[in-house]
Amino acid sequence: MSVKSLLLILSVIIVYGTLSACQLGVDRGDGDSITIFSERHYEADRMIYEKFEAETGIKVNLVRDSADPLLVRLENEGEATIADLLVIADAGGLVRAKERDLLQPIDSPFLESVVPEHLRDTDNYWFGLTKRARVIVYHPDRVDVSELSTYEALTEPYWRGRVVTRQASNIYNQSLMAALLEAIGEEAASDFAEGLVANFAETPSGNDRAQANKVLQGIADVAIMNTYYFGIMLNSGEDWQVQAANELEIFFPNQETTGTHINASAIGVTKHAKNPEAAQQFIEFLLSEEIQEFIINNTFEYPINPSVELPELLKSWGQFNEMTVNLEALGKNNNRAKEIMDQVGWDN
Ligand code: FE
Repeated sequence: MSVKSLLLILSVIIVYGTLSACQLGVDRGDGDSITIFSERHYEADRMIYEKFEAETGIKVNLVRDSADPLLVRLENEGEATIADLLVIADAGGLVRAKERDLLQPIDSPFLESVVPEHLRDTDNYWFGLTKRARVIVYHPDRVDVSELSTYEALTEPYWRGRVVTRQASNIYNQSLMAALLEAIGEEAASDFAEGLVANFAETPSGNDRAQANKVLQGIADVAIMNTYYFGIMLNSGEDWQVQAANELEIFFPNQETTGTHINASAIGVTKHAKNPEAAQQFIEFLLSEEIQEFIINNTFEYPINPSVELPELLKSWGQFNEMTVNLEALGKNNNRAKEIMDQVGWDN
């Protein structure tokens, strides 16, 4: 066989292979399947998709990636998108998706009744799915709980060299700043950022669990991090993580003022969804009492549906007042939050 004909055969194979892969990719949604673009990475989510399939006969396809690539892909695919639903771990991601005209409103009396107003879009383009609290974690040998009060109080000289949290590039801290901008105003929020950075024990690095480890190791005495990592650490099977979860304590700040900053994973139906009815049915399924309970028992997040009873572990952390600024603020104030964090040298 000549090289030429070999190349011809090869290119036929490649073209055919690409075409069939494309065909798989552009499933137009025939009424019994939905495709989710999701940033969440929980085993529990996968189990829920299977449960939905079993109960409804609607097949669930999952495309997993981080927030920005998913938004870019949705934008690029336009009307041809295979996505019916978008799930982002930070509500700000859904705000950006709405701003970029990638979502459509959902008309669901059920969702409006179970999702508190501050945890959904004003025009019903997205709804909160699960809730996260970003709190102060401390080592009780080195910090007495009476010394703790607010996020802002961590800027006092008393805390010099004793505070850790992750980098400014991390969406969790960007959203904390964005929420504070809304709740306490630009000047106070900037003062908070500047004062917090002045009290950092070291240059920010690592994820939320790494911050817990720094407090455990005595590198710092307090960390700002999300509560659900305590559940994850307890169940990690790794010694230092279990030890951190057992030794460290959770404190809900700003109880007498703004309430503790919360964020939410959120979900919306894409503008060009092929199967919007099934997509809405899926969101309603996720917000049902039964599924909410299943999710939080596995991810240690807080439920959005208020009728769900908390697992013992979450009860043991205590009740708290949450900030009730609408999570739209996380998207709206994200750029300003990043600018301030950059100006105060958060990562330097
Ligand atoms: Fe996380």
